[in-house]
Amino acid sequence: MVNPGGDATFVPLSDRVRWTAVLRLLLVVTAAVLWWSGDRDPATARLLAAVGAGHLLLTGALLLARAGRSATRAGLDAGLLLDSVALVVGVHALGGVQAPAAALFALHAAGTTLLTSFRTGVKVAGAHTVAVLCLVQAEATGVLAGGPDAGAFPGGFTGFTALLWATTLGTATFAAVNERELRRRRHDAEVLHRLLADLVGVGDRARVASRLARFAREELPAERALVVLTGEGDRSGEDVALVPAREVDEVLRRAGQEARPVLVDALDPARDPWLARRWPRARGVVVVPLPPEAGRGWLVADLGDARQAVRARGLERRALRALEQAVSHAALALSRAEALEALRRAATLDGLTGVANRRTLDEALARAVADDGAAPLSVALLDVDHFKAVNDRHGHQAGDEVLRAVAAAAASVVREGDLVARYGGEEFAVLLPRTTPAQAQVLVERLRAAVAASSDPRVTCSAGIAGADAGAGAADVLAAADRALYAAKAAGRDRSVVSPGAAARAGAAAAGRPGTPGAPG
Ligand code: GH3
Ligand code: MG
Ligand code: MG
Repeated sequence: MVNPGGDATFVPLSDRVRWTAVLRLLLVVTAAVLWWSGDRDPATARLLAAVGAGHLLLTGALLLARAGRSATRAGLDAGLLLDSVALVVGVHALGGVQAPAAALFALHAAGTTLLTSFRTGVKVAGAHTVAVLCLVQAEATGVLAGGPDAGAFPGGFTGFTALLWATTLGTATFAAVNERELRRRRHDAEVLHRLLADLVGVGDRARVASRLARFAREELPAERALVVLTGEGDRSGEDVALVPAREVDEVLRRAGQEARPVLVDALDPARDPWLARRWPRARGVVVVPLPPEAGRGWLVADLGDARQAVRARGLERRALRALEQAVSHAALALSRAEALEALRRAATLDGLTGVANRRTLDEALARAVADDGAAPLSVALLDVDHFKAVNDRHGHQAGDEVLRAVAAAAASVVREGDLVARYGGEEFAVLLPRTTPAQAQVLVERLRAAVAASSDPRVTCSAGIAGADAGAGAADVLAAADRALYAAKAAGRDRSVVSPGAAARAGAAAAGRPGTPGAPG
């Protein structure tokens, strides 16, 4: 936003070709009018017509050759030099630099400056100056006969030069002011477009926030930037932070209430403790509120050393406006990401306990069974003992609490890569990749101890464990674990049983005999 780069001309090449031709036509018409309002000498008319027509044809041919971009550009440049020559001949015929016809040079230089660039305009003015100097010298030394004395142009060559350069430089300067603004706007539009393209398809809030923060750092440019959202928990990262609603700083609240960006020179530790703690030495803090549909949140940036530069160049308002637009683009992406995340959670997690649901378990188990036939894989099924009695005695709310406690205990015990899922009702499944049934039993015992220690009212649970045999499908493993669970219940509950198939293989391996793969539990 603040750093528009490049000095590309705004007028496309094809338009420049067209408009340069229009400029030439205008010059020819003006010359004709000057002739008409002068002495209407037929010889002058013939000369003007010949030069005008010849020049238009020649420059037209140069451009119509259509020999590619660089050739067209060269044709344009060559045409501008030819313009100088044609103007010298025409102006000489119409009375020389003393006559009003000399203004044709200024008209041409101004037109060229507007159509091309400051640099080309200056070059053209230089070419005109040299051409006119030659003309004046030729007239003075008698090489060319002086034209009729129109006498209206003051100051001769000096006056001519002053008019030419004042016109060129004036046009260039005023055009540059306009152009700079246009260039900045184009730059802003481009970076916003890039951000938008960047945000398409980004489906999680942290990544949206991270892109927005990066945008502020790179484009503002800010020393630091982050997206602050209200919420509890520690899902904060480098680019996104959660702040509890009751701890929202004064400056954030003000920006939210006024629904517009707020810029402060420094943070006040008394009123903005949260931000001041995070950025103790912040100077020039910009706070842009997110639109309400994205939830309560802000983009916060610390301009740091860039603050003076941004202020001095008067770019604050523009930068803030662009930042606001960026924030509203990102807000859309944020609310979309939030909806997607909610949808994903609903589709994959169990609503009551927050662990994976049955569908996630089935998919993960099918993948694990198919993926790595060589590595051991175990499944444990857990069932809360006498859970119906818990419901009956303490109510379903308390029963729900117990289910949450069991899920939390299981999640706290398993390792990364394991999966805890609610299998249904008061049954849970634990998927343990790269784990033999014997190792799984050690983990399940720890899990059962955690459940016994943490549930209120206190409950115990029984577990059945089975390993995936080579060639066995997901359903076989689950069925073996279920049979083992049934055995644990039958044996008096509050215990774990390893599927006899798995146990027999473990025993066989220990005794050095081949096991009986696939044996039912
Ligand atoms: P066992 O030791 O043989 O497993 O006995 P149990 O009472 O645990 O088993 P049973 O299958 O007879 O009862 C399971 C109970 O779990 C019945 C059902 O009402 C309850 N239940 C299932 N889902 C939920 C739930 O989401 N919340 C609550 N509170 N109870 C549930
Ligand atoms: Mg049950
Ligand atoms: Mg039960």
